[in-house]
Amino acid sequence: MNASAFDAVIAGAGLSGLSLAAQLATNGWHNRSVLVVDDAAATPSATLWASWCDGPGLLDAAVSRRYRQVQIHAAGTSRVVPLGRYHYQVVRRSDLRHVVMGLVRTCPRFVLADGHVEDIRDGGGAAEVVIDRQTIRAAWVFDSVRAGPSSVDVDARLAFTGYDIRCGHPVFDADTPVLFDFRTPQTGAARFVYVLPQDSHHALVEVTQFVPRHTVVPTEAARRDALDAYLGAALHCQTYEILRTESAVLPLRAHPGRRGNGRVLAIGARGGLVKASTGYGYLRIQRDCEAIAISLARHGHPFDLPRPRLRHQLLDAVLLDVLDRDPAQLELAFSRLFSANPAERVLRFLDEGTGVADELRLIRSFPPLPYLRAFATRAVHRQR
Ligand SMILES: Cc1cc2nc3c(=O)[nH]c(=O)nc-3n(C[C@H](O)[C@H](O)[C@H](O)COP(=O)(O)OP(=O)(O)OC[C@H]3O[C@@H](n4cnc5c(N)ncnc54)[C@H](O)[C@@H]3O)c2cc1C
Repeated sequence: MNASAFDAVIAGAGLSGLSLAAQLATNGWHNRSVLVVDDAAATPSATLWASWCDGPGLLDAAVSRRYRQVQIHAAGTSRVVPLGRYHYQVVRRSDLRHVVMGLVRTCPRFVLADGHVEDIRDGGGAAEVVIDRQTIRAAWVFDSVRAGPSSVDVDARLAFTGYDIRCGHPVFDADTPVLFDFRTPQTGAARFVYVLPQDSHHALVEVTQFVPRHTVVPTEAARRDALDAYLGAALHCQTYEILRTESAVLPLRAHPGRRGNGRVLAIGARGGLVKASTGYGYLRIQRDCEAIAISLARHGHPFDLPRPRLRHQLLDAVLLDVLDRDPAQLELAFSRLFSANPAERVLRFLDEGTGVADELRLIRSFPPLPYLRAFATRAVHRQR
């Protein structure tokens, strides 16, 4: 790295860093100087991102797979749910990088570098990023690398462990991901299994558990045991080869704090873009990066971003509080949401794109008592 000053430094070339680079390249920053720095030795959080989607996006060329339906096993019933205008899609990290590299290649002053970000300082008129002991100045820094919220101020955590497996015989429906399968022992937890098939023999199978704030996160070994048991009992898959394992504990916050207002803006998971009630972040990160790039081009600063709606944050918080008291409500909630509503309405709701009328219809699917109690407790806390 020779230059010591950039219009922007993007710290981290994961989902948010790459998406922001692509948006800057196509939204008026084509000739500006942008450094995207990533430490190749750092462990990236995900190797692929699945999400539902109902429209075109800048990075669609990175989508490797689209599904028109999903399967749900909950409350003793199994159903295949057509997604209507939505599809469920998969973007692999390697494909995302390839597509973004293609976009930024045409930008003469974009630099992608390998380096470890050691510090980020907000210095009033400019910011400073320390990369491998070298200090780089930048008008704006977009930070996806520093530690997220500490465990004391999260509403819950999402703990998951997944195997990318190949089975000896056909086990999976290649056209139908399993969004959630509650046929796994709940043992007082809100736990389900998720299956993303590549073909009939090959899939990512993941056990996912909402862990309330005051509860100990189950060990990775316990999550693996649950996964092994599920593969045998629910899928009758006795022999399989594990090609890769992924495991993580995601902090969930219904009201993410400030993302910055000086010269440094937190992006991606660090910026609170992972939705607290689902653990999905792909689409929110895409929209956020687009809004940042448009704000920079229009106003010269990145802060003209859509404000998160309070009612959506409150609904997330209420769901997590309900699970805190009674984890079994998760299965009931998902089961009723999808049995009483078209999938499009549910997905739009989880995407925070619904209006109040639709939200009231959806909320009517839930058993009222636990939600009213959690709502009242939150409301009282807000008054204090
Ligand atoms: C295992 C896992 C699976 C997930 N799957 C999904 C999914 O399927 N769908 C979905 O919508 N959401 C998913 N999420 C949630 C969320 O979308 C992802 O965490 C997403 O990758 C967040 O993007 P990010 O840019 O904040 O972080 P990342 O994509 O992790 O990017 C951060 C980057 O910073 C780099 N880095 C870290 N420290 C340094 C340093 N000090 N210096 C330089 N570089 C550094 C890393 O190498 C990495 O490339 C998943 C999360 C996890 C943990």
